[in-house]
Amino acid sequence: MSAVLCWFHQDLRLSDHPALTAAIASGKPVIPLYVYDAKTPGKWAAGGASKWWLDQSLRALDADLRALGSQLIMAAGRADEVIPALAKTHAISDVYAHTHHEPWSRQMQQNLASRLTSEGIGFHHSEGVLLWPPGSALSKMGERMRVFTPFKKSLYRLGRYRPIAQRPDHILAPAQWPESLTCDALELVDHRTGWHKTLIPHWTPGEQTAQAMLSRFIDQAMDDYKSLRDFPSLEATSRLSPYLHFGEISPLQILNAVEAVTDLDDNRGAEHFISEVVWREFSYELLDQRPDMPEAPLKEAFSRFPWVDHYDHLLSAWKRGETGYPLVDAGMRELYATGWMHNRIRMITASFLTKHLLIPWQEGEDWFFDTLVDADLASNSAGWQWVAGSGADASPYFRIFNPITQGLKFDASQYVRRWLPELNGLSDDMLFDPSSAPPALVEAAGIRLGETYPYGLVDHASARQKALDAYEKIKAS
Ligand SMILES: Cc1cc2nc3c(=O)[nH]c(=O)nc-3n(C[C@H](O)[C@H](O)[C@H](O)COP(=O)(O)OP(=O)(O)OC[C@H]3O[C@@H](n4cnc5c(N)ncnc54)[C@H](O)[C@@H]3O)c2cc1C
Repeated sequence: MSAVLCWFHQDLRLSDHPALTAAIASGKPVIPLYVYDAKTPGKWAAGGASKWWLDQSLRALDADLRALGSQLIMAAGRADEVIPALAKTHAISDVYAHTHHEPWSRQMQQNLASRLTSEGIGFHHSEGVLLWPPGSALSKMGERMRVFTPFKKSLYRLGRYRPIAQRPDHILAPAQWPESLTCDALELVDHRTGWHKTLIPHWTPGEQTAQAMLSRFIDQAMDDYKSLRDFPSLEATSRLSPYLHFGEISPLQILNAVEAVTDLDDNRGAEHFISEVVWREFSYELLDQRPDMPEAPLKEAFSRFPWVDHYDHLLSAWKRGETGYPLVDAGMRELYATGWMHNRIRMITASFLTKHLLIPWQEGEDWFFDTLVDADLASNSAGWQWVAGSGADASPYFRIFNPITQGLKFDASQYVRRWLPELNGLSDDMLFDPSSAPPALVEAAGIRLGETYPYGLVDHASARQKALDAYEKIKAS
């Protein structure tokens, strides 16, 4: 009897997996497959943090599949070569997958579709990564959108794109399994640097943890989400971003779980939370409209922005969390230690890089892409362009985050003390700007500026003015 293949990608879960459900409904044995491709994405191949997460996530998915009488077949290479070859040797009649959205991957899916079709093999793909396929939310004139609020309203008006798919309780195995690589053989974890070890205490990848974290968030944090989400010292957000990126939970599962306990019209916390999930949809919409978004500014004028020329030492101080601005440094250290950074701090660190230091946003985007466990081509590039001012519906350019007042406004002293214990002797009023604090008090706090903690790399007020002047140049040109 022939078998069918379910091609997993950014959907490493078993519940609410329409492609898997359709594969099982064929009545034929199902071969679950993951193809790791380190080459085709080029510079957007998974970074260090993502690879560690992927390694853990594939192991979790394989264990979950084995509990249902199946297993995950792992391969390396180009999916449009690996899958047709497997199809030949294992009498595959059909391939099921969710629609891919990253530009390189979408291209790969198109190549695969035409190859399979020409060989008489069915290729079925459906939306399983987003709430709605990009291009669904349209303006009243029927046009695609680049402004968030009308996009969200339009998406809400559409209602549900599909019903939730049930988790299977058994998956029919083929008479003979194809050969599979082991997870170790994929070499996702870099044992030479051992950096992944710092991530281990902070995260447990996999579908089961994603569900548990969603329940915890709904029970304990959702109602206050709108008022507390900007305070980095609190655990007031869901931390579901890596689980969403790898598809260990679907946005539809999140929406359903939230609506099962509350009404979005009456619960500001819940509505704001879903609205953030829709920002993810919006990022994918923008990437679909502009596949060059990870590299090129959406606003053309920004291609002439006068970035500084020689910035290696500034960039490396930013990456290491040694800018002399504690809120920025705490964020960069949190990122390196945990693979995650609070959203407000992402905005502040990104603004500091692009506006205080005048370093091209693509440099920060690359670093985030390598070090974030939730590194996501769409959300990361949209986030960087939003902060830099070059994006669709971007933050107005003159909104230059002040890393001192933001710390006070969002009560971030506990957060800074956690990541910069060397500043613990400073009182809260001096904590966000040690360079301007009275030297005697800094010394009394056990800090030697320039030795135990750096002076500010730039002066806030003059850096801000320089950024505004730089913007005037492109506005005028
Ligand atoms: C410069 C910059 C880079 C970013 N890079 C990424 C990235 O690579 N991957 C990523 O998932 N998010 C990125 N974000 C968006 C956001 O910071 C994270 O999604 C959020 O901090 C994740 O934490 P959470 O899961 O607790 O979010 P919550 O506040 O609990 O929000 C729930 C979910 O909504 C989505 N979401 C929330 N905010 C945004 C947003 N602004 N844009 C898109 N989706 C959002 C995420 O999937 C998130 O898990 C970036 C933001 C900025 C400013």
